[in-house]
Amino acid sequence: MTALYQVHDDVALITLNNPPVNGLGLATRQAITDGLARANADAAVKAIVITGAGQAFSGGADIKEFGSPKALQEPNLLSVILAVEKSAKPVVAAINGVCMGGGLELSLGCHYRIAAPGCNVALPEVKLGLIPGAGGTQRLPRALGVEPALNLIVSGDPVKSELLAMLPGQKLFDKMAASVESLPQEALALARAVADVRPLPLVRNLPCKHPQGDAYFQFARNMVKGMAKNFPAPAKCVDAVQAATQKKFDDGMVLEREIFINLMWTSESRALRHLFMAERAASKIADVPQDTAQRAIGSIAVIGAGTMGGGIAMNFLNAGIPVKMLEMKQEALDRGLATIRKNYESQVKKGKLKPDKYEQRMSLLSTTLSYDDLKDADMVIEAVFEEMGVKEAVFKELDRVMKPGAILASNTSTLDVNTIANFTQRPQDVIGTHFFSPANIMKLLEVVRGAKTAKDVLATVMALAKKIKKTAVVSGVCDGFIGNRMIEQYGRQGGFLLDEGCTPQQVDRAVEKFGFAMGPFRMGDLAGNDIGWAIRKRRYQEKPNMKYSKTADLLCEKGRYGQKTGAGWYDYQAGKREPIPNAEVIQMIEAHRASLGIKPRKISDEEIVQRLVFALVNEGAHLLEEGIAARAGDIDMVYLTGYGFPIHRGGPMNYANEVGLFNVVQAMNRFAQNPLDDAQFWQPAPLLARLVEQGKSF
Ligand code: NAD
Repeated sequence: MTALYQVHDDVALITLNNPPVNGLGLATRQAITDGLARANADAAVKAIVITGAGQAFSGGADIKEFGSPKALQEPNLLSVILAVEKSAKPVVAAINGVCMGGGLELSLGCHYRIAAPGCNVALPEVKLGLIPGAGGTQRLPRALGVEPALNLIVSGDPVKSELLAMLPGQKLFDKMAASVESLPQEALALARAVADVRPLPLVRNLPCKHPQGDAYFQFARNMVKGMAKNFPAPAKCVDAVQAATQKKFDDGMVLEREIFINLMWTSESRALRHLFMAERAASKIADVPQDTAQRAIGSIAVIGAGTMGGGIAMNFLNAGIPVKMLEMKQEALDRGLATIRKNYESQVKKGKLKPDKYEQRMSLLSTTLSYDDLKDADMVIEAVFEEMGVKEAVFKELDRVMKPGAILASNTSTLDVNTIANFTQRPQDVIGTHFFSPANIMKLLEVVRGAKTAKDVLATVMALAKKIKKTAVVSGVCDGFIGNRMIEQYGRQGGFLLDEGCTPQQVDRAVEKFGFAMGPFRMGDLAGNDIGWAIRKRRYQEKPNMKYSKTADLLCEKGRYGQKTGAGWYDYQAGKREPIPNAEVIQMIEAHRASLGIKPRKISDEEIVQRLVFALVNEGAHLLEEGIAARAGDIDMVYLTGYGFPIHRGGPMNYANEVGLFNVVQAMNRFAQNPLDDAQFWQPAPLLARLVEQGKSF
């Protein structure tokens, strides 16, 4: 049953009942129209109330129907809203908790609306690259006023019902209930009070004008253009709302529909919908059921108060979880503590953190030099130097002192988590938590599942990640995990491009035009070019046949490590992050190229972007094949939240699907012909080749 039908004396009550948020799936829509028909046919019923069971009126479309033909099957939402409008007996929407998207559009079709305070009201379609498609752009401006309606539609953000009720002249809510508890009774009373009022009021009949008309919409368009960047939907929201002020209601509805359908087919909307689904999917692990019992985590210990340790600690302090930090020397602890203080103080100065909250967070932080002080912590995260010997010493100590059942996590970025787990007598309690720098800011957390990691440990860490507002993606154990293993191939292509004729600026510009927050060379300067250098030195030993450009090594030999040394691929002024091209670096690249006997060629932006992005795609396909990543969507989440991949492209794997895997492989075959590139690498991963053969996508 997806909606309950009851009669309270002379009022019929239709209660949407499709947990968790009463999504308007086919069965629910059908139940609404059935209820309306039944109430209209019952002579004893004088009025109808529609409300939601549980914590929501309705959250809108049912995400289980996303992209399926069921979403459009009759009665579709437009038909349901028409049925409500056409009801011969008045229909009152009793709005509780959440009223979003299609839920708000449904309420706007009702003759009257009464809302509980504290209700979240939104039209979030723009966040999926769409505009509201069931009358939201035509009815909301009539009910709420043009400007507040457009703000709501363009931002997609929720606004509290009581704030909307205060807008002068608003007709969105006929009444505010005193509380969510009294809402049902007050709604029934309102229904009785209006039972005999005719004609029935309809939002579609309300006037819709803006006093400044065209000038206001021009202003709105300019504002939106700056914010929307690569997305077409926000500007279309303006068009649709402007149409509400210019066209007859039904003509405005036709335009809304047309815009909605056109946006559905844009790659930008597909990317956002992919992201929405991928984010939800990432928290699901095939062999770890959602209801797996979790271990209680009430306190955290962090080993190492350096760059990562401090940032990691802040995540938990922000979530109200006490943290104890351990270092080898008091000076290191003092330094770590000072950095955390400085970070919080700068937030206070910017008005982003209240002083009392700052004090509260700091009061949750304690420090120690002794492992014995950690014995009560429920989980410990190690963030010491990246050397196996150091990790071994630390994990042996942790094994000695930590209480049974405590989770032992390592923040290692390159070392084998299984080896680390085997330093202890409890490898089932060991897991990798790979935070990204700065750890208090970056959304991504790679959760590294060791061969022996217990399922409840994995489930606990995934839930904890949500608590500290991270996007957690599970990775198997391999060198570099998902993100860094792929970026290594991207970096290698960057080197070849320099050798063949590009400048760092040209590569960065092309990649940034594609939409990346930063090109590979600016990223190298930010992260520190010495990190890649150290990895390459290891690779030269491990994989002597692997092809590398030596240009980045020459740069590092000059001590140009990046922003931290004031010089890398670019120069940097003290305290500034603007890259300034450096003539010596260009000469160095040219001289090296000449020494290899390479005649530079002009490389198009398209080739630059394809070689870099398809390198990610091919390595990503290997990761899927090996089971290191569970889903292509997981890889996309890693790149969107950890590596600045352009959101409107939906991540490397989604982008490859958009280009068409056949075309991707064709390009790879072309790159393999280039004697200065790595033909071996460009062999399509077996999974990729298989998908192309079967005409499929990731
Ligand atoms: P860091 O050098 O800034 O900090 C390491 C800290 O650990 C230092 O303060 C040091 O005094 C302390 N330490 C060393 N040995 C110790 C021991 N035996 N007991 C207690 N404390 C000890 O290093 P970092 O950049 O914070 O990196 C820490 C870990 O995080 C490494 O494994 C690194 O690979 C990983 N990591 C780093 C980044 C990054 O961008 N810096 C990103 C992801 C993961």
